[in-house]
Amino acid sequence: MHTFQFLRPKDPATAVASAAQAKTAQQGADIRFLAGGTTLIDLMKLNVETPARLIDINRLPLDKIEATPDGGLKIGATVRNSDLAHHPTVQRNYAVLSQAILAGASAQLRNMATTAGNLLQRTRCVYFRDTAMPCNKRDPGTGCPAITGSNRTLAILGTSEHCIATNPSDMGVAMAALEATIHVQGSKGPRAVPIGEFHLLPGNTPQRETVLEPGDLITYVTFPPPLAGNKHVYLKLRDRASYEFALASAAVVIAIDGGNVTRARIALGGVGTKPWRSPEAEGALVGQPANQANFRKAAEAALRNAKPQSENGFKIELAKRCLAHALQVAATA
Ligand SMILES: Cc1cc2nc3c(=O)[nH]c(=O)nc-3n(C[C@H](O)[C@H](O)[C@H](O)COP(=O)(O)OP(=O)(O)OC[C@H]3O[C@@H](n4cnc5c(N)ncnc54)[C@H](O)[C@@H]3O)c2cc1C
Ligand code: SF4
Repeated sequence: MHTFQFLRPKDPATAVASAAQAKTAQQGADIRFLAGGTTLIDLMKLNVETPARLIDINRLPLDKIEATPDGGLKIGATVRNSDLAHHPTVQRNYAVLSQAILAGASAQLRNMATTAGNLLQRTRCVYFRDTAMPCNKRDPGTGCPAITGSNRTLAILGTSEHCIATNPSDMGVAMAALEATIHVQGSKGPRAVPIGEFHLLPGNTPQRETVLEPGDLITYVTFPPPLAGNKHVYLKLRDRASYEFALASAAVVIAIDGGNVTRARIALGGVGTKPWRSPEAEGALVGQPANQANFRKAAEAALRNAKPQSENGFKIELAKRCLAHALQVAATA
């Protein structure tokens, strides 16, 4: 591993000022925040990430889960995934988030992994993680061998001719369905970014994955107050029952009254280049009877724009069945 300078600030302002000297906050960043390290240290061992300076943020006061004045929830950036998943308020009012986190990684990893780190985890595309291979995301302009190569686990929604990498986060999918807001402290002050605007589509700049700029520190994530009657389900389909990323997943938050769907918030995982909110599925459901035929119609709508590659066409039907089944489970919960 290459050498790097290591800083351990105690306050966010110092962390932000140190990181603001970076040339970029995207792929190839010369300065990186270190949280749980379960993504970053892995990538440093592979030489995919080679920061000259690491800013350890684990001593910052960002490890609380608190109620907001409006009845919502505020989660600190360094809250461990395990603490978040097992928090009583999260289990009671934001169950889809708890289910999604517990469907990911392993207990040991969840004990280290943090809220912000999970949102910023990188794709598992094999070419991205292998510096002997070309990859537009790691080394812009070198090409995307996945499009004609190994793409079974890669994305079918939101892709471009330059990159088809899947966003691997489970937590981010639940956060998309819960309409989370990501709070960032930057060198120009604080700002709030709705999760739908936080991750970028690859387009012709796949090396840019989020709206973060040099110095930007995620401080916390907030959720709106829970709505009475909402039913929550996270369903994850994968090659083995644990310690595996999603081939397809669905986060469903719906309300049913008098047999009809009155509210629906739906996001998909394992199939998109970012946590994939589906307004198409939501629009197909609201006002309709909560039955299997309509759940299937919503799933068809969600995948209508899917673009399969040579090895991952199976994901279209898999994701449809995943969403339709998640809706059925929620409806009968
Ligand atoms: C074997 C294995 C299996 C896994 N399986 C799953 C799975 O099934 N589902 C799933 O969702 N995830 C899975 N993961 C990924 C895991 O959830 C992430 O590695 C973890 O959430 C990252 O959090 P961290 O705190 O360790 O991040 P770090 O590695 O510390 O940081 C990740 C990135 O975020 C940046 N960062 C961290 N905090 C901040 C902040 N506050 N502000 C700005 N930038 C910040 C860092 O600079 C870095 O670029 C798996 C990981 C491994 C190693
Ligand atoms: S899919 Fe994206 S990450 Fe994978 S090789 Fe292509 S450009 Fe790189």
